[in-house]
Amino acid sequence: MYDVIVIGHGVTGAGLEWVLSRYSNATRILGIERRKGAGMVNSNVTNNSQTLHKGDIESNYPLDKALQVKWGADLLGAFVDQNLPHGKLVIPKQLIAVGDEVDELTKRFHQFKPHYPDIQLLDGNGIAELEPLVMEGRDPKQKIASLYSPRGHAVNYHLLAEKFVDLAKASGKEIDIRYNTSVQRIERTAHGFNVHADGVVHSAKFVSVSAGSASLLFAHALGYELDLALLPVAGSFYTNKRVGGLLQGKVYTMQDPKLPFAAVHGDPAVYNTDETRFGPTARPLPLLERDSWRTLAEFLDIGTVTPRGIWSLLKIISDPTIGSFALWNMVFDIPWIGKHAFLRDARKIVPSLGIDDIMLDKGAGGVRGQPISLKTGSIVKGRDRFIPKDAPIAFTLAPSPGASYCLGNAVELARAMVERVPGFQFDEQRLLADLKLDA
Ligand SMILES: Cc1cc2nc3c(=O)[nH]c(=O)nc-3n(C[C@H](O)[C@H](O)[C@H](O)COP(=O)(O)OP(=O)(O)OC[C@H]3O[C@@H](n4cnc5c(N)ncnc54)[C@H](O)[C@@H]3O)c2cc1C
Repeated sequence: MYDVIVIGHGVTGAGLEWVLSRYSNATRILGIERRKGAGMVNSNVTNNSQTLHKGDIESNYPLDKALQVKWGADLLGAFVDQNLPHGKLVIPKQLIAVGDEVDELTKRFHQFKPHYPDIQLLDGNGIAELEPLVMEGRDPKQKIASLYSPRGHAVNYHLLAEKFVDLAKASGKEIDIRYNTSVQRIERTAHGFNVHADGVVHSAKFVSVSAGSASLLFAHALGYELDLALLPVAGSFYTNKRVGGLLQGKVYTMQDPKLPFAAVHGDPAVYNTDETRFGPTARPLPLLERDSWRTLAEFLDIGTVTPRGIWSLLKIISDPTIGSFALWNMVFDIPWIGKHAFLRDARKIVPSLGIDDIMLDKGAGGVRGQPISLKTGSIVKGRDRFIPKDAPIAFTLAPSPGASYCLGNAVELARAMVERVPGFQFDEQRLLADLKLDA
């Protein structure tokens, strides 16, 4: 019998494995991952925006949500500073606002400043000093301001997942990882759960299902979260490969708070600062994983393609903000027109961009599994992890900014395990001390 089984080895599963191997009394941990290595789906380097979200420049987060994200991001920021010398960039970040948005940004700055002491409010001249191309070619009469954060992180979440696994393996505990192995079924037993994976049954006192969107399938199969389904939203990126790069840091634009995703932004790629990425787009896709047709069957099973699911989708897109956002993003897929349409968004960041300056990054981009409520027919925010009170199991979907919150999730799961598994201990104080963070 294992102490813990972790299903899925993106940053969520791998991060939990590291925390448990180093800071808990679990001695036998089994990891099961259906890809050939860790961090190969949404955590893969080109499949996400590589941002360590702290909440300061994400204009769709209110202060309370921003502070919760900040708590997890501070853990991860400290971890990557210590352990990931080649898988990250420490770069500035800006949130730019134009026209009427400037008043909203200014209000946000004053509200957030006490909690994020580093942030500054910049005018056009200040922006031009840091990011000349953001101002070049812009209408000089346009009102503009930015919320500037001098020390942000870009993270290669694929390398991060591998690092977590390497450090867990080096912990001296029994860490058994099975790649190329798929979990088909989980069943409750008297002492925990049995996990059925490619014809072999493994038992554990606690199971963490960290399988991205597929986590909801396992929750449904065990009778949990039956009122939720998923709207998978694929995100693609465009790139520019001009030597020297177009941007020095991450430049975000204002987002409507009704929309669950960060708006289109531009930034240097974490693996090559000569490459500037613009994106992500957001369009519905009937797959749970972008590059895997077998996940079509999983999507069809997740509750969205049911009368209640279709009613929910129709109700969601009947909202004018969400409907027009979805339609605009679908235009990006139309040949020729799509690139021109995207250019309009990218020019909000670099106005002088020409049509030949950007290229679709083929094969890059992932899928965010956005939870939707089958009861109310609405987008559900903040229900992307479920830890039943009555059973030693957890399900983590981690749509976005799940990668930034991977250590936050790991710590909260470890706390939940203390409550659910007799004799389980977790030394959170030592983890914080090692990361040089206050309790
Ligand atoms: C376009 C886009 C941009 C994003 N940008 C950001 C960003 O800038 N910052 C940020 O913090 N987050 C971002 N995100 C979200 C981020 O990518 C995810 O939150 C994060 O990667 C989730 O990690 P994970 O380990 O939960 O999932 P994944 O990395 O998807 O890993 C899940 C793993 O489970 C495995 N698995 C699934 N089913 C099974 C099974 N049955 N058996 C065994 N294994 C299984 C899969 O193979 C996979 O390896 C973005 C996402 C997208 C799509």
